[in-house]
Amino acid sequence: MICTWRGTQTSSMHAVVLICLILSSMVGCTGEKPQPEPRHSPEPPTSVTTQSVPRFDGNRAFNYLLKQTSFGPRNPNSKGHRECLEFLTNELRRHADEVRLQEFTHTGYENEKLHLTNIVAVFNPRSSSRVLLCAHWDTRPRADHEENKTRRNEPILGANDGASGVAVLLEIASLLNNQPPAIGVDIVLFDGEDYGFEGDHERYLLGSRFFAKNKPIDYIPRFGILLDMVGDKFLEIPKERHSLKFAPDILDLVWGKASTLGFTQFLDEVGEEVIDDHLPLNEIGIKTIDVIDFNYPDPTHRYWHTHQDIPEHCSAESLEAVGTVVTHVVYTQTP
Ligand SMILES: [Zn+2]
Repeated sequence: MICTWRGTQTSSMHAVVLICLILSSMVGCTGEKPQPEPRHSPEPPTSVTTQSVPRFDGNRAFNYLLKQTSFGPRNPNSKGHRECLEFLTNELRRHADEVRLQEFTHTGYENEKLHLTNIVAVFNPRSSSRVLLCAHWDTRPRADHEENKTRRNEPILGANDGASGVAVLLEIASLLNNQPPAIGVDIVLFDGEDYGFEGDHERYLLGSRFFAKNKPIDYIPRFGILLDMVGDKFLEIPKERHSLKFAPDILDLVWGKASTLGFTQFLDEVGEEVIDDHLPLNEIGIKTIDVIDFNYPDPTHRYWHTHQDIPEHCSAESLEAVGTVVTHVVYTQTP
């Protein structure tokens, strides 16, 4: 993703018919940082209304993060990209009712033909009441903000910027398989979100743009939730500005759930404006918010787009906070 506005940076298918239709990514921060205060992890929910919500396991999600980074950088046309695509596809096929690969190409820099794939996993396909959950699975082919200038042209590992959102969604996929939700859920992993050079906005969001352009006319999810950079050990998620403009009610829904559950990582303040995969979705009328902690790890330190974006700077606890909130949002939706 691209941050285009910096505010106060302190804390801050449906029906079977639709299955037959193909449902057809964000440009997604080095230095020593202070050790974080451990964030509050809530006790397991006990109220009647939340007992039917399965427990999201942050450690399992973190293992999904590690698995992705084990392939190395996953930038388009790389070995890690090919291997990770196979892993993600197989993993989602274990859990979802239907998995479709939306393959497309894009002419990249120096006329390189990029082979890109969005992965669409469909749960409870017969339900016409649907929610879209998404993240980008590709990683950046360069480290623009790396302190060591000689390494800026090397692809990044993308533990947070790439793997974290996908990790949460893979764990949610396993929950959806074990305990089918009342509504339909589509998990979409976008490719090519983080390809472009800084400033070349046309070469970002390649997967989400393709998805939006090829969306079946009768695929109308209630809303979408995009997860990007949600693994930061020092997780603080303000309300992203485009989300506030396009989908304020969805922000309220998600932040309200976080508040009820006691997850203080979700801040009641407005953050940056970020160009990310939620924009092409909002442009075609799918109200989508971007859950993102751009200040990785904090406003004065940057692991973003550096070789410091590694698993050691992410945590299972952060993934569990975000995963638990999204799981509660999904399981409390009624058809
Ligand atoms: Zn990025």
